Amino acid sequence: MATSNVSPPSTLPETGFLPVDPALEAALRAKGEKLFARMAAHPTPGIFSKKGAYARLMDWAMQDPAFKTQLFRFVDVLPALDSSAEIVRHLQEYLGDKAVALNPALKTGLAAASLAPALVAGPVKAQVLDMAKQFVAGAGPDDLIKQLRLNTRAGRATTIDLLGETVVSEAEADEFLRRNLEVLDTVAAALRAAPEPGFSDVGPAGPLPRLNLSVKISALTPDVHPADPENSIVALKERLRPILRRAIEVGAFINFDMESYKLKDLTLALFRSILEEAEFRAGPAVGIALQAYLRDCERDLRALIAWARERGRPLTVRLVKGAYWDSETILARQRDWPVPVWSHKPESDANFEKLCVLLLDNTDVVTPAFASHNVRSCAHAIVQAERRGIDPRAYEFQALYGMADELKAALQQSGHRVREYCAVGQLLPGMAYFVRRLLENTSNEGFLRQRNTGEATQEQLLRNPVELLQTGTRKPDTGKGEIGKASPVSGARDPVFRNAPNTDYTLAAARTRQRAALEALALRLGRKCPLIIGGRKITDRDYVPSVNPARPNQVVGHWAKGTLADADAAVAAARAAFPAWRATSADARAAILERAADLLETRRMEINALIILEAGKPWVEADGDTSEAIDFCRFYAAEMRRLGRPEITQRTPGEHCTQLWTPRGVAVAIAPWNFPLSILTGLTVAPLVAGNAVIMKPARQTSIIGALLMDTLVEAGVPPGALNYLPCVGGEIGNHLVAHPQVDAIAFTGSRAVGCKIWELAGRTPPGQANLKKVVCEMGGKNALIVDNDADLDEAIPAALSSAFGYSGQKCSALSRLVVLAGVYDRFLERFLAACPTLPVGDPALPGTVVGPVIDGDAQKKILGYIEQGKKEARLAWQARLAPELTAAGGYYVPPTVFADVQPEHVIAREEIFGPVLAVMKARDLDEAFALANGADYALTGGLFSRSPSALERAQREFLVGNLYLNRGITGAVVERHPFGGFKMSGGGTKAGGREYLQNFMFPRAIAENTLRRGFAPEE
Ligand SMILES: Cc1cc2nc3c(=O)[nH]c(=O)nc-3n(C[C@H](O)[C@H](O)[C@H](O)COP(=O)(O)OP(=O)(O)OC[C@H]3O[C@@H](n4cnc5c(N)ncnc54)[C@H](O)[C@@H]3O)c2cc1C
Repeated sequence: MATSNVSPPSTLPETGFLPVDPALEAALRAKGEKLFARMAAHPTPGIFSKKGAYARLMDWAMQDPAFKTQLFRFVDVLPALDSSAEIVRHLQEYLGDKAVALNPALKTGLAAASLAPALVAGPVKAQVLDMAKQFVAGAGPDDLIKQLRLNTRAGRATTIDLLGETVVSEAEADEFLRRNLEVLDTVAAALRAAPEPGFSDVGPAGPLPRLNLSVKISALTPDVHPADPENSIVALKERLRPILRRAIEVGAFINFDMESYKLKDLTLALFRSILEEAEFRAGPAVGIALQAYLRDCERDLRALIAWARERGRPLTVRLVKGAYWDSETILARQRDWPVPVWSHKPESDANFEKLCVLLLDNTDVVTPAFASHNVRSCAHAIVQAERRGIDPRAYEFQALYGMADELKAALQQSGHRVREYCAVGQLLPGMAYFVRRLLENTSNEGFLRQRNTGEATQEQLLRNPVELLQTGTRKPDTGKGEIGKASPVSGARDPVFRNAPNTDYTLAAARTRQRAALEALALRLGRKCPLIIGGRKITDRDYVPSVNPARPNQVVGHWAKGTLADADAAVAAARAAFPAWRATSADARAAILERAADLLETRRMEINALIILEAGKPWVEADGDTSEAIDFCRFYAAEMRRLGRPEITQRTPGEHCTQLWTPRGVAVAIAPWNFPLSILTGLTVAPLVAGNAVIMKPARQTSIIGALLMDTLVEAGVPPGALNYLPCVGGEIGNHLVAHPQVDAIAFTGSRAVGCKIWELAGRTPPGQANLKKVVCEMGGKNALIVDNDADLDEAIPAALSSAFGYSGQKCSALSRLVVLAGVYDRFLERFLAACPTLPVGDPALPGTVVGPVIDGDAQKKILGYIEQGKKEARLAWQARLAPELTAAGGYYVPPTVFADVQPEHVIAREEIFGPVLAVMKARDLDEAFALANGADYALTGGLFSRSPSALERAQREFLVGNLYLNRGITGAVVERHPFGGFKMSGGGTKAGGREYLQNFMFPRAIAENTLRRGFAPEE
């Protein structure tokens, strides 16, 4: 064994990366150069070296990022296209202009393609499949066995990966399990017939399991809920146990691949938990992948090593950098969560090197598997191992099938064990894997691209990443969990306002805090909430109990029932408080809202708990409600600061011309129960910060949450009378307030019937009324989502499920009409209906629940009535069976229900149901789909899943709704990002959380002052 003469480092630094060690660098350079030299002796055709179309396409893709995006998007949609005409249409839509710009000769080809689609589509598809084949070792077990034999002969070990990642139903997960078991059986049988191991199949203690299978947990169950790891682990184990048992029987090795960050803790917990079960304590041989691009990878690796040592359970750790860097970065930024990955490529490289040392220092319990195509990363591992005198057979290198073949050969020639990761399966469903490989091959900073295109010299490729960080323009990351904030796109406004990040319940600490808050609240339920009028608490009214819809015998609190006289008193108190409140500066009013936002933020868990219990919202939805309330406070505060400054209307000599805003007077906020905190907050604080005195009338079902908001705003500094809390029962008091001559504005969200009544009442001008009333009116929806023939069903199915059934369909934005194009209708429906039973229906106090109860008995009765109606007019395609314990406690549950083959004239296709009932409709083509979608009385939200650029463009023009969502779910509007509100019978066209919202509660005033006095004017 070659041993370098450089001595090993005494200890691994606790923080930071490995210090630069000149002696080690010299040894590493020598090793790297040798590897490069050996690689040169084994040139292999790869994606860059193939002649013809691929090479040219890859070349163009690397020259032009926009073309690369279009090309890879075309590759991604190709499997979903089932006719030549469709292939050609997409080809032209994606590549038309761009390809022509790169190569004018293509123009003729693309134009001719329309004339003879079959002549073009076939070869295009064949070429893409041929490209994909480079990365996939075959379609099934037979191909795999062939590849395994080839590998063995070439001295390489193999790990098998079955393509197919997203499963949306139990049936798909069962199929994945079946395929895994089949592979274990058939490959084991084939190996028994050829018992001679290859060079890489022998470790220091003898032969290693030759059958090595890599599994992805997301393919094992559709029930993966990162916020509910306990139950997810139970579900995952159901399918993992048979695999591990079979692995023991056939002597196979099982590796747990690592996927996205949200599954990381869950995967680690599952790994440990199942291996602690008695039957798996000693076998099978196992491993797990860890991703060095994660900032917390070192912590995880140390914990895993400690666990393995404590349990005496040897394992393999496959160290990778990580395959999901872009999506981890984008998603974290979108959510304003700490970005979990390092931000600079050399940081991931440096971390890889540090963790490589950690692994090599613990080879008594771990077998390191270095999975990298980067010569520097591999050379570093070898030199560090040599320093420690480690037998090269005690660790291995791993590389992907179809990639870095020269490196594999060079490593083998240098006496190292190499394992090839062989993906097998149908090419078309495996397109996601192929696209990831394309991205990896063409990534700007990736080793493969830099080497294969000659963008970097050998010397540059071997440079120490820590040195690069120190000497380059890039500063090393502090590792303190940078909060990434997307830089505003061009033309976007200054980011004065930032959305409050939701809680990341994948973190155990967040779950513990939420659970504790729920337990604490359960101990102090039953609070009495008096009216608050003019700053006075009115305690001697009748009290109404507010109950938990999941367990109606649990009283959350009691609220005092306001009377007509109280309504008059509230108007009088507001009128009296108005002048002083109007005179309070816009900045001071805004500061009060910002304080309220801070208070809500600090009490988030407690507030979430109250929303969970009083409104029956699942954890994630309750947390989103709290975030939105915080956002409304901060956004409207920022908006008021802006509007509070007079704006110069026109600059003209001798005259100073401005426009400014003045509040209307007294506003009434009438809120619904479905966003019990956020909508109530928005309707209240918008008129309030604009300088109006407000009477807040929360929904009767959620008036305890209303009291909490009142307390918060008072604590933040809203003076007596400027805000009044008036919960009450029935429409009489609401109507009285709306019609009151001393009321100037009404902010309402609720049903169409009540909204239309308010609109009408407010239109009258009784004697004594000073102003024409302004009504901000947001009503319901009958929202449609269109699924195009070429839609990505792996994305569309979960999005449709959560849009239709999240919070039991009780959002005004919820999906109620799913319009599916004929070409994909049967395929979609089959998968969608199979996915429906995976919806967790249960008590919202449990973290994994997605569908809880509906709000009360009346709502339950009404929705059940619609279900009966649906049974008469359409086909009942699926209905959940409610667990007996849910109904035993009297909870207001309605089983989520899907009707198929619904016709536009059916009642369930026309009326708003406000519950977990979905109507699926078939459309001949996009013309009919848009006609169906637009053919409702409402125009609130809508969506389209399509991978056709022209269809997406068309939706923007023709799908007439207030909030249109493309290739995503149709609920979950975020303040400022998605100003929310619709038209037709959905509302008056105002946009909550939008830039024009506050102006609804103010009058504009224009002031012109002649500045020319005695012939002179101040300079402007
Ligand atoms: C056998 C095998 C098994 C694998 N299994 C898994 C697995 O289970 N899970 C998984 O996630 N991946 C897995 N991968 C994929 C692997 O993550 C990528 O192939 C690998 O990251 C590429 O690294 P490299 O060292 O070969 O190339 P390099 O070019 O040296 O590194 C590229 C990597 O650097 C990181 N990076 C890129 N840009 C930045 C940036 N700006 N800031 C910080 N870091 C950046 C990314 O991780 C990127 O993939 C596996 C790879 C192999 C070979």
